[in-house]
Amino acid sequence: MSISNESSSDNEDISTDPLLYDNSNIHVSEAVSSIHNYIATCKLNSSHQKKLLDLIFFLIPKDNNLNRRKLMKQLKQPFFYKTLCNCCSKEVDLTTNECSNTCKLNGKERNQEGIIEQCMNDLNPSVSDVVKRNLHLITTYPSLVDKFLPNDILNANIYKQETQSKSLYISLQLHSDGIDVMTTKHKNCYVTTGIILEIPPPLRDMSKNKILLSLYFGKKEPSIELIYGKLLEDLSTLIKTV
Ligand SMILES: [Zn+2]
Repeated sequence: MSISNESSSDNEDISTDPLLYDNSNIHVSEAVSSIHNYIATCKLNSSHQKKLLDLIFFLIPKDNNLNRRKLMKQLKQPFFYKTLCNCCSKEVDLTTNECSNTCKLNGKERNQEGIIEQCMNDLNPSVSDVVKRNLHLITTYPSLVDKFLPNDILNANIYKQETQSKSLYISLQLHSDGIDVMTTKHKNCYVTTGIILEIPPPLRDMSKNKILLSLYFGKKEPSIELIYGKLLEDLSTLIKTV
């Protein structure tokens, strides 16, 4: 059945994963995942995402199983997913099971214990959303914090030194916490969230203003690099672009 028809339901059975088109080497889920990763890595805006999809649909056979409407809907979700090797921590090619040449699991079929799943948020739209909704507080609270909440972190000397020459300053405080998850096997789940300090408490800690930055799900304990490496890279890029 072709699901390329734009009127197809979004509630199709997700257990089916047809080939991208007849005689294709990859399935729809792999194609969607590759498109997601490319868009996230290259940080394409919505107009460039649309152009990329135009090109993809121009190049693949017309009788394909990619649902453009569903894909566009998924692209509006800022999260993207990575599968890493549990042994060498490099990204796994899900088609070939390859991770790194020196790894003992390279190219071998894996079960759930052989992989680490990571989910990363696209920082720019998520931070922008919280900032826009709280802009009036972010622009006024730092100058009033002395009177309202003398013990708040914004009254610390280090914060004042950093911000004294800036009219608008946005600080993201990161927090990571791990929980043990028992399914059939033991797994570690780590959640990293961020809050904007220029939003006054308790509003800054409300779930609608908390930013889910990343999730880690794997057998081994994550290293600092695995939890914060990509996140700090993205934060550094965000700081340079605003
Ligand atoms: Zn490996």
